[in-house]
Amino acid sequence: MPRSLADFISARANGVDASGIRKVFDLAAKLKDPINFSIGLPDFDVPEEAKKVAIDAINAGHNRYTPTQGIEPLRQRLRKDLSTEMGRDVGEVLITSGVSGALLLAVLATIDPGDEAIFIDPYFVMYKHLVTMAGGTSVAVDSYPDFRFHADRVEKAITPRTKLLMLNSPSNPTGIVMTQEEVDAAVAIAKKHDLLIVSDEIYEPFLYDAARGLPSAAKAYDRTLILRGFSKSHAMTGWRLGYVAGPAEIVNQMAKLQQYTFVCAPSPFQYAALSAIDLPMTDHVNDYRRKRDMVFDLLSKKFRVNKPQGAFYIFPQVPDGQSASQFVAKAIEHNVLIIPGNVFSERDTHFRISYATTDEKIQAGCEILNSLV
Ligand code: PMP
Repeated sequence: MPRSLADFISARANGVDASGIRKVFDLAAKLKDPINFSIGLPDFDVPEEAKKVAIDAINAGHNRYTPTQGIEPLRQRLRKDLSTEMGRDVGEVLITSGVSGALLLAVLATIDPGDEAIFIDPYFVMYKHLVTMAGGTSVAVDSYPDFRFHADRVEKAITPRTKLLMLNSPSNPTGIVMTQEEVDAAVAIAKKHDLLIVSDEIYEPFLYDAARGLPSAAKAYDRTLILRGFSKSHAMTGWRLGYVAGPAEIVNQMAKLQQYTFVCAPSPFQYAALSAIDLPMTDHVNDYRRKRDMVFDLLSKKFRVNKPQGAFYIFPQVPDGQSASQFVAKAIEHNVLIIPGNVFSERDTHFRISYATTDEKIQAGCEILNSLV
């Protein structure tokens, strides 16, 4: 028997289930002008100054491969800034194709078949699938109902095969920001059990309540990979720019893998990102803080919901008796696009709203959601 086309598909590809999100997009495709709460990116555009630097970089001929590690001035600047913030030298910096690129390389560089990676449920979808793709075992530690870091639950999930503790603060999809105490507890666990921390801090600029910066495991624990990027901070999701900083032994392995996969991050946009570092984005952050308050006030009338402290997501609970998927289908019938919790979780009890949209849409969309309860 000749191979069918399905026979060409690897177990790796078959092992990834994208059906949850696809269902939402299929339903969404039927809508004309939906209130779209499903998009995970800012609603402002790349700052004009950064666009100009990108265009100038193209015209100046920065259109070829850069070194795999990224352009030197950008790497140096990020290392300097991160080291100042963390109070110690953070190690090597590698410029990646988005934080997605950094996550893939981090997992490929560390996870062997059978190795385990722990992350907090609800989680950013990619964690689960990347670990599976690498042949590892993903271990999602439930954080309901408050979405906080529960050290006792994490501790219970550790086995001799646990290698990575993946943290995401501010969190997608909950908007929760880990407190200093929670980060300290995570670091204590990592030290005790000899784990590498992968700290996904892509939403670091979007902090609404913190008096002083983001509590990061990297401050107290040098076996931490810090992952940040420009996609969300400067609305450059399509420019594919992220970075990782951490111990040279690990980051150099990631660079080796980048050489044979992505090769390098997009050249002109590396120059643009360097210039973007100094652009003030505080107006946008202040605007999103106000939107956070608005969406929280509106939804807490009808939903059980934790107040987010960062990012631009909120993760309310569906009222009793319905699954999130059922509720989402109903919301979509009423022209409001939201994502069911089972896309980000082993549970299907909540839904994600991205409030990176206009005040009018927030108001109208929340009123519709409230009317469905
Ligand atoms: N981490 C988290 C938590 C995210 O939400 C995203 C984007 N949705 C990424 C990483 C990847 O971002 P990018 O590849 O665009 O930098």
